[in-house]
Amino acid sequence: MEQTVVILKPDCVVRWLIWNVIQRYESLGLRLIASSMENLTEDLLKEHYAHLADKPFFPKIVSYMTSAPVMVQLWEWENAVAAVRKANWATNPAEATPWTVRWDYALTIDNNIVHASENLEDARAEKERFFSWISVVQYT
Ligand code: ADP
Repeated sequence: MEQTVVILKPDCVVRWLIWNVIQRYESLGLRLIASSMENLTEDLLKEHYAHLADKPFFPKIVSYMTSAPVMVQLWEWENAVAAVRKANWATNPAEATPWTVRWDYALTIDNNIVHASENLEDARAEKERFFSWISVVQYT
């Protein structure tokens, strides 16, 4: 059983799209096992987006990701990492496929609604980063 971390980004929260995105993952059979509203900090974003910290658009990411609360979520099921990445599709919504989260709801590459762990190693690190103080449940 895999676990994957999702962040519903500020545009998802302020545009009342939380339910729509949750519905996509639930319809794939994934199980939500932890969730919390959080205000992200610049320090945490530097760690989370370390692979982008030297990009010219990094300050834009920080200002966007701190512009409103986010909802961090932990989802579980077989192939959860790939299933959620597929449901979200491309980083740039202009390159997304119809009936995917980013095609349906995201506006631009820097307002793209969701984050999801890229692979199992990232999923484990992100679980540690975001869920060490949040309770995680188990059910069948
Ligand atoms: P993903 O979120 O699809 O895993 P990345 O890890 O490459 O993609 O990028 C993280 C986030 O940084 C993206 O979701 C997007 O919000 C932002 N980003 C990536 N590339 C750009 C870019 N060229 N211009 C602006 N923002 C970007």
